[in-house]
Amino acid sequence: MAVLGNRRNTGEIIEKYHFNFQKKFGQNFLVDSSILDRIIESAQITEKDCVLEIGPGIGTMTQRLAEEAGEVVAVEIDRNLIPILQDTLSAYDNVTIINADILKLDLNQIVEEHNQGRPVKVVANLPYYITTPIIMALFENHIPLQSVTVMVQKEVADRMRVGPGTKDYGALSLAVQYYAKPEIITRVPAACFMPRPNVDSTVIRLERYEKPPVETEDEAWLFAVIRASFNQRRKTLVNGLANAGKLGVSRQQAEEVLTEIGLPATVRGETLTLEQFADLSNRLLRRKAAGPA
Ligand code: SAM
Repeated sequence: MAVLGNRRNTGEIIEKYHFNFQKKFGQNFLVDSSILDRIIESAQITEKDCVLEIGPGIGTMTQRLAEEAGEVVAVEIDRNLIPILQDTLSAYDNVTIINADILKLDLNQIVEEHNQGRPVKVVANLPYYITTPIIMALFENHIPLQSVTVMVQKEVADRMRVGPGTKDYGALSLAVQYYAKPEIITRVPAACFMPRPNVDSTVIRLERYEKPPVETEDEAWLFAVIRASFNQRRKTLVNGLANAGKLGVSRQQAEEVLTEIGLPATVRGETLTLEQFADLSNRLLRRKAAGPA
C-alpha cells in the first residue's frame, strides 16, 4: 500500500473507493508530509506508547503512528472509511479500528482494554465541529492521558493558550490550563488539506499535569463557576454568577466573596486568573454550605 500524506496518493484512494467527503463530519484530509513529520515528532511517540487517534480518515497519520507506537487505537465515525482503513493499514498488526462516535465511547474502558489503564497519548487532526467537546471530554472524564497533540482551527488553539485580559480568553482556556500545559507546535495553512478548509489550522500539544496548578475543593463546581462567569461576557462577574440559577449563589453572596478576595463588585470574569477562579469558587462553596445569605 502506498504511503499517504500527499495529494496524489490521497486522490488515488478517494477515486478507487469513490469516496464522497462528508462536510458534516469535518473531513479535511492532510496532504502534506512535512506537517505529518512535525506532528509525529512533537508527539514524542515510542514503541512503549499506546496512541489513541480520533478520526483517522483514510489512515494518513495512522500509518505513521503505527510505525512509531506499540499500539494504535483509531476511532472513526464514518463507516464508509472503514474498508479504506482496512486497506491502507493492512501492513500493520498493531492498529485497532473502531467505527464509533468518539463522544459516545467509554474511553476509560478502551484505555483499560488496550493499555491496562496506563496513560495513552492522543494524536489527531480533529474534526473542527466538535473540537472543544472532544478536548473537554478527554480531560473532564479523567481519561488516563500523557499528552494530547492535535490539529485544531487556529482560533481554537489561541483560545486554549491565552491568559486573562485577551478577547480569546474564556472557559476553554481555563479548562485546558487547569489540566495541561499548552504549547503551539506549528501553524498549518489551509492548502495542506484536501478539500481545502476556509480557515488556517494550528498543531497544539497539551502536556497533562500530574497535579493541577491550583487547589480546588470541588473540580465540577470550579468549572460550573467558570462557565457561569463567561456565560454573559458583557456583564459583570456578579451578574453572571447570580443569573446562573443552577449555581444557587445570590448576588449578595457573590459580592461578599469578591470583597473578601479584594476584587471590585464590577469586575468581569475575563480578567480573573485560574488561581483567582479557584479561590473564588472555593470560597463560594463554603459560603453556600454556611446557609442562605
Ligand atoms: N486524520 C485524517 C487526516 O489527518 O487526514 C482525517 C482528519 S479529518 C479533519 C477528521 C476525521 O474525524 C474524519 O475522518 C471524520 O470522519 C472523523 N470524525 C468526525 N466526527 C467524528 C466523531 N464524532 N467520532 C470519530 N471520528 C469523527
